[in-house]
This record gives sequence, C-alpha cells and structure tokens, in this order.
Amino acid sequence: MWDWEKLENECLNCKKCELHKTRKNVVIERGSREADLMFIGEAPGAMEDKLGKAFVGRAGKLLDLAFGGLGITDEDIYICNILKCRPPENANPTTSQAEQCIGYLNRQIELVKPKAIVLLGGQALKFLLDTESGITKSRGSWTEYINIPVMPTFHPAALLRDNNKKIYMWKDIREAWNRSRRG
Ligand code: URA
Repeated sequence: MWDWEKLENECLNCKKCELHKTRKNVVIERGSREADLMFIGEAPGAMEDKLGKAFVGRAGKLLDLAFGGLGITDEDIYICNILKCRPPENANPTTSQAEQCIGYLNRQIELVKPKAIVLLGGQALKFLLDTESGITKSRGSWTEYINIPVMPTFHPAALLRDNNKKIYMWKDIREAWNRSRRG
C-alpha cells in the first residue's frame, strides 16, 4: 500500500531512467494533496528542477494568472507532471521515460483522488490517455481516466507562442474547476 511517504522516498531515490543523472531535484508536485482538482503537465523545466517544485517558472506564472482570474488558490489544486525529472534541453518525454515514470503519477492520482483532472498539453494527453489525437482537437471535451473526468487543454507554455489560445485554456480550466466542485 502506497502512502505519501513511500511515494516521496521512491521518487527521490529513483534511478529507473537516465534523467536521474542530470536532475538537480526530483519534482513531485505543487499545491494541496487534499485538492479536488488535479493538473498534469509534461515535465519539470529549468526553474522547477532548481527549486524542486512543479510549475514555478514562466509557464507556471501563466497558469497562476488563470488561477487568479478564476479565484483558484494553491489550496484548491494539486499539480504534477508525467515526468518527475527534467529532460535536458526541455526535450519531450520519450516513451521509455514516460513508461518508467507513469506509475508514480498513478499513485499520486490514487492518493489525491481528484474529482476532475486537467491535462496540460499534448504530451500529458499522449502519455496519460495513450492517444495520438492532438491537443487542438481534444481540448475542451471531457474524457475520462480510471473513472475520473479528464479535461485536456493547452499547455500554458503554448500561450507564450500564441496568445489566442489563452481564452480556451481559461475556459477549459473554469469548466474543470466547476466540475470538481460539483457534489
Ligand atoms: N512545464 C511542465 O509541463 N511542467 C512543469 O512543472 C513546468 C513546466
């Protein structure tokens, strides 16, 4: 039976893939373990690797703007990633890295028991739901993962390249936020 202490120990000592050789820190999460709304991103970036906390860099700041606008605080959400260690040069996760790491994410989902999950970006979508369907097509529509409602949306970093996506990301997060508070 996994608890938070076991999850932390396993992640902090993990050497299953080569990313352990280049990481500064293992990045497990940000937010509240009691939250009803869970966000899953791709992998830690440079700032997350440095500080050991998820979504604290540029993409995190954009997410924070959306949270602020919707009245969501860090007490309301739990954020984590497909990978717990930073891929050098922020490369996309490889299938092998994601396969080695996804067990930790599944344990996090079991422990948090969120009422809704938001998938941030195409990589999270691909590796959690095992689909090749792209994020532009999938965002905004509910799907599910082990009986938990899942809302895919754009990765906040995508807003840095295309500000028109902002309204869609906000809309999707608002819908998931409302769903997580229902009954
Ligand atoms: N991008 C992600 O997908 N996750 C983080 O934690 C930071 C940036």
